[in-house]
Amino acid sequence: MTPNNAVFNKILIANRGEIACRIIKTAKQMGIVTVAVFSDADRDSLHVSMADEAVHIGPSPSNESYLVIDKIIQAALISGAEAIHPGYGFLSENAQFCKQCKIHNLIFIGPPVEAILAMGSKSAAKNIMAKADVPLVPGYHGDNQKPAVLKQAADDMGYPVLLKAAAGGGGKGMRAVAHADEFEEALAAAKREALNGFNDEIMLVEKYLLGPRHVEIQVFCDQHNNAVYLFERDCSVQRRHQKVIEEAPAPGMTEELRQRMGEAAIRAAKAINYQGAGTVEFLLDTRGEFFFMEMNTRLQVEHPVTEMISGQDLVEWQLRVASGEPLPCTQDQLQIKGHAFEARIYAEDPENDFLPATGTLSLLRPPAESAYVRVDTGVVEGDQVSIYYDPMIAKLVVWDRDRERALARLTEALSNYRIAGLTTNICFLYNLATTHSFRRGDVDTGFIEKYESEIFRQRSEDINYGAPLAAEAILAARQDSAKQQAAQSSEPNSPWHLANSWQANSITKPRVQVKIGAREITVEADPNNLNTQLKVVAADTESFNLFTDQGVFHCSEVKPDLGLQDNQADGNLTAPMNGTVVTLLVKSGAPVSKGDSLMVIEAMKMEHAIIAPADGTVSEFFYKEGELVDGGAELLAFAESEEAQ
Ligand code: ADP
Repeated sequence: MTPNNAVFNKILIANRGEIACRIIKTAKQMGIVTVAVFSDADRDSLHVSMADEAVHIGPSPSNESYLVIDKIIQAALISGAEAIHPGYGFLSENAQFCKQCKIHNLIFIGPPVEAILAMGSKSAAKNIMAKADVPLVPGYHGDNQKPAVLKQAADDMGYPVLLKAAAGGGGKGMRAVAHADEFEEALAAAKREALNGFNDEIMLVEKYLLGPRHVEIQVFCDQHNNAVYLFERDCSVQRRHQKVIEEAPAPGMTEELRQRMGEAAIRAAKAINYQGAGTVEFLLDTRGEFFFMEMNTRLQVEHPVTEMISGQDLVEWQLRVASGEPLPCTQDQLQIKGHAFEARIYAEDPENDFLPATGTLSLLRPPAESAYVRVDTGVVEGDQVSIYYDPMIAKLVVWDRDRERALARLTEALSNYRIAGLTTNICFLYNLATTHSFRRGDVDTGFIEKYESEIFRQRSEDINYGAPLAAEAILAARQDSAKQQAAQSSEPNSPWHLANSWQANSITKPRVQVKIGAREITVEADPNNLNTQLKVVAADTESFNLFTDQGVFHCSEVKPDLGLQDNQADGNLTAPMNGTVVTLLVKSGAPVSKGDSLMVIEAMKMEHAIIAPADGTVSEFFYKEGELVDGGAELLAFAESEEAQ
């Protein structure tokens, strides 16, 4: 890339984490000086050290720093930046921010304010798209928000329906409703989440399509009326309506359908005089019909898969277009080469409803980067994943000449990703990527639920496969540590240091008791014939992850139990993390059934239900609605009913 003086001299990046680092990288290559902004929590973070300059913008909570328009504008003015790149999230789709940039003569690296406003509300957007002849998901997107009107709309279109916050994003403020009698409760919950997250409780009711795919089109428009689409991304694999693995091109996509979707996306962009990078999201049904869902007026998290298959740098395009240059390419010059995947590496616990995790990245060794493997991250070993921001650790992006090879790259890279200090979703991603259905490209938005047992490895045949391998891994580790001890010992030839000394004079193979997933199992293994191909990654000192071609297994050696195990459901339930009590759903003393929701906690803008572990009663709630709770705090006292015991 040659430095181009026509583009900016200096830009400010109004973001943090991996996307700030990603933008700085391209800006540097283009010879542009970069200014970072940072909160208290981010004082020593990677994006600050990568930027040429950095401005402190306040305390850690984002509504006191990264979301404060004035502070960002002031930082840009003080540092002499000509333009602001908002990244994604935070202020990236905030019309007020875009306006303020203009007022202060700063270029907003994104679309014009009118385009943000047009797409800012999912309901308003649907009205515009209908006029532009873009097919819509059937549903109600009217102004009358009376619960009875919304309910009537749902009854008329037939269940299941999906309630969606018009101002929503990131899967928040969304509730699927299977039956009419669940409507009111779901509406209340969706509105609460929407008010909390977006300060706006306007709802859409959509027909809930079953098993669609999420296929989105990357569009780009300049200030000279040129527009292109950079093909599609399939983002069907989702949890809680949030993307987990994205790929480009979409498996099974035909040239004809791609062109139809691409042209519809361009119609959508042109209908609002779009400029810059945008994404038009569609649901694609099994018959090949597609329906507009929304347009995101920013660079998407998953933009790297498009970069990998198109060979273009989308941040460079953004900077050029924002400075007034024409698009670098015409539609005819764009071509798809190979296949790419992106897996979002999160600090979260997939086994516990994907609850965000926090902590210190005491070990962080990503796989080596190459022409095939790219790691976009904003953290280094020793950094904290805090409660303040999104707990994404990195985006692992892989490319190869076809889907099968790219997928092999993905699983290999995942099995080489070493993180300790907090819970991550790496094993979950690996299991997901190695399922037969994913290998076949047979994906839809219900994928994770549909293949839950395979992804979470609960099937007995998986355990029977994994357990002997786990036993071998344990024996191999014992041999290693025995060898190390022998090497350090004053008597290196002592028989006590023989790796297999515990079975001296014995022809029986040692028995190892392993815990694999939630099951404990005793297996025999031959210490003289251990499989050295096993890939083992230590999760902590007690347990390890075993990567096999049939998925990854979380294992540990079962040591003799010296204490009494308390298997009773009686006792206290604790807060999964720092948060606020949103609502108490049952009365103290009233009988509840196992699996009932007892109370709702809001943390990181998501609601988490606290579930009854058995039939019984809540003897006492320790918190009231609206109170703050610390992670780990006891929330309520629960008494299991006599019959249930
Ligand atoms: P957000 O802006 O919160 O990301 P979207 O409108 O983009 O919300 O929807 C997120 C995801 O929810 C989609 O990718 C899709 O999986 C699912 N979804 C949205 N609308 C529907 C629908 N009408 N039917 C089925 N699934 C839907």
